[in-house]
Amino acid sequence: MWFFSEEERMLQDSMQNFAQDQILPLAEQADETETLPEGHFSKMAEMGLLGITVPEEFGGAGMGCVEATIVHEELGAVCASTALTYLAHTILFVHNLATNGSKEQKEKYLPDVISGKSIGGLGITEPGSGSDSLAMATMATRDGNDYLLSGTKTYITNAPNGQIFYVYARTGDGKKDVSTFLVENSFEGFSHGKKIRKMGMRGSPTGQLIMDQCRVPKANRVGKEGYSATHMMRNLDIERITIAGISVGIARGALAVAQRYVQEREAFGQTLSKFQMIQKMYADGDAELHAAKSLVYEAAKRWDIAKSEGRPLGKKGALWAARAKLIAATMATKVSLDCVQMLGGYGYDREFPVERMARDAKLNEIGAGTNEIMRLIIAREELN
Ligand SMILES: Cc1cc2nc3c(=O)[nH]c(=O)nc-3n(C[C@H](O)[C@H](O)[C@H](O)COP(=O)(O)OP(=O)(O)OC[C@H]3O[C@@H](n4cnc5c(N)ncnc54)[C@H](O)[C@@H]3O)c2cc1C
Repeated sequence: MWFFSEEERMLQDSMQNFAQDQILPLAEQADETETLPEGHFSKMAEMGLLGITVPEEFGGAGMGCVEATIVHEELGAVCASTALTYLAHTILFVHNLATNGSKEQKEKYLPDVISGKSIGGLGITEPGSGSDSLAMATMATRDGNDYLLSGTKTYITNAPNGQIFYVYARTGDGKKDVSTFLVENSFEGFSHGKKIRKMGMRGSPTGQLIMDQCRVPKANRVGKEGYSATHMMRNLDIERITIAGISVGIARGALAVAQRYVQEREAFGQTLSKFQMIQKMYADGDAELHAAKSLVYEAAKRWDIAKSEGRPLGKKGALWAARAKLIAATMATKVSLDCVQMLGGYGYDREFPVERMARDAKLNEIGAGTNEIMRLIIAREELN
């Protein structure tokens, strides 16, 4: 992007090298075996990526949303599953804890998640509530110096492989009576539910968190009791901008494969790139990718500027995040499917990566708030 600083360009270069050398070679295996390759987290920890937005005083890299989006885009360009798992750990757990946790909670939990010793995730979604997140049924009731949590979270990224979760639960009868808890998988009453088999993002483990009278110390409640509804919504802004970065990466990766392919493959005595219908598909994809990318980095930059000025982005943040996510996710599904088309039978063949990219792209129209919810947010802000 034209406005990237020298440091942001250096991060982009080093991420491109890392993604090509270390992540791409294992992307197909991750998809086929439906497991995240071992070692990815420790390598990302070595590069200082797991605490990317955490202030340096707590062992993080002290970077912002633009840098985090660069990392997600570069991972997304080669292996969206790795990017999604990274997002759940680094943004949904680590960033949220660093933003909302107490000094004691940060000192206790951040070192292990920043070093990659433990993997984190976040639980909002339940079997009976997704888009309508405040309809969650998981209850937390006080029991002396502890809370007892009962309920099931589903479609949780890193649930099968994680050790620590940022869990939202109801602490009262009002719709907004929601609190946050740091739940370790070793706590009494906690169990990992079944691993969920998916259309795409297969290398990113998804599953359930089951809490049956799960005993959580009061010291693990994040913030005041009953005050989490607002920060749950605010936390979604950076999640939506970075997941939009993954969409930009997927489309870029798929277009790069298609670009090489159509310039080599011949039909009717000329390369595919000479056919106007192929040119249209490629040119539309290229233009749509760059339009989405500009919007995503504008949203990220706005997030960083607001943070540096010490003011919350508030509803404007939700609006920009929704615009970026809606446009980038929709674009990536369309562009990656067009790339399948440009490769013909080879596009549908699992030996080539574009069918994986198309399956992965679709998730971003659903996870972190569906396209319909993004449209609701935009309409709510722009129409009366
Ligand atoms: C691979 C994967 C990873 C995920 N990771 C996580 C995670 O780490 N943590 C977490 O908490 N959740 C996670 N999710 C859950 C995800 O955020 C939800 O699936 C999503 O918010 C949609 O909720 P739902 O699936 O219950 O669908 P529903 O809310 O039931 O929606 C079904 C359909 O109805 C539409 N709809 C709903 N309400 C409205 C409305 N008011 N107006 C118009 N249309 C509407 C939706 O857009 C959708 O098309 C993940 C999901 C997947 C698939």
